[in-house]
Amino acid sequence: MAERRPNRVLGPEHEQFWSYCAEGELRFQRCGTCQHVSWPPVKACERCGSTALRWERVSGKGRIISWCTFFQQYYPGVLPTPWDTILVELDEGPLFVSNPHGFTNEEVFPNFPVTVSFIECEDDAGQFSLPVFERA
Ligand SMILES: [Zn+2]
Repeated sequence: MAERRPNRVLGPEHEQFWSYCAEGELRFQRCGTCQHVSWPPVKACERCGSTALRWERVSGKGRIISWCTFFQQYYPGVLPTPWDTILVELDEGPLFVSNPHGFTNEEVFPNFPVTVSFIECEDDAGQFSLPVFERA
């Protein structure tokens, strides 16, 4: 059963990201000019402004560099509290805010190794596959 989540940011580049997630692929835009990997989705490279971007599949492997647990209820009826959030530095460079899957923040330590997985969620726009992270 799909987990209810707050509404995603949508728009052309974002929808491309979510369509890759639906295939079980985590992809980011790599600049063909300076090789920088941008996140979140952009129309032009966030480093050099080039529009020569291509979606590149990443390994999904990384490490947790920060984490927090929300006790304040920001999404009543959508997210239960306490709510664990993690900041993952992917091996390819991007920093990605996500949720732990199969562990809690009480187990996390600096550089905790993780790998991406996808869970079925829904928001007002419909069902989608959300990238979350499991212990590697
Ligand atoms: Zn660039």
